[in-house]
Amino acid sequence: MKYIVIFGPPGSGKGTQSDKIIEKYGYAHISTGDVIRAEILTNTEFGQKAGEYIKEGNLVPDELIIEMLAHTLENTEAKNGVIFDGFPRTTPQAIALKKMLQDHGGDVDTMLSLEVPKEQLVERLVERGKSSGRLDDNLKVIEARILVYENETAPVMDFYKKEGTFNAIDGVGSIDDIFGRIVDVLG
Ligand code: AMP
Repeated sequence: MKYIVIFGPPGSGKGTQSDKIIEKYGYAHISTGDVIRAEILTNTEFGQKAGEYIKEGNLVPDELIIEMLAHTLENTEAKNGVIFDGFPRTTPQAIALKKMLQDHGGDVDTMLSLEVPKEQLVERLVERGKSSGRLDDNLKVIEARILVYENETAPVMDFYKKEGTFNAIDGVGSIDDIFGRIVDVLG
């Protein structure tokens, strides 16, 4: 079983590249953002709590999100592997993920870190906002999310550098070119 983390700032293409990875490698996909949005739509207790954070561009507290991730992982059927998209976003989340996978006799095999300059992120997210229907794809919240990424999420890179699983991926170019760079790493 392979465990892959796809990492990067908002708008770096994590979701798009996850879809391509799933298609090629047959991995199961866990996107914490997708799970939260589904829970908001069905108005669960977790959805109500998480919605307060998501709409401001803030991170959902570690305790809540880690519990949700553990539950989602338990209920995910995976044959070849799992790709974690949008998790971990803090170092405590990375530590929690390592512990969870250890219980399954595994560990994160590869961390893919998509690198895109900030100006392009804003441009992409504003464009996506025209059709995504996402409440957090508007300029004010986009800027907040990028700031949260820089302050709270970017340090997660150091965790995976120490683990020896960190791979920087140039996230600029066509979807297929970027995917080619990912395939070079995943094999
Ligand atoms: P995403 O779809 O990955 O861009 O996530 C959208 C929003 O969901 C983020 O801006 C956060 O508010 C929340 N979120 C998603 N994943 C996490 C996470 N791992 N930790 C905390 N908040 C998260």
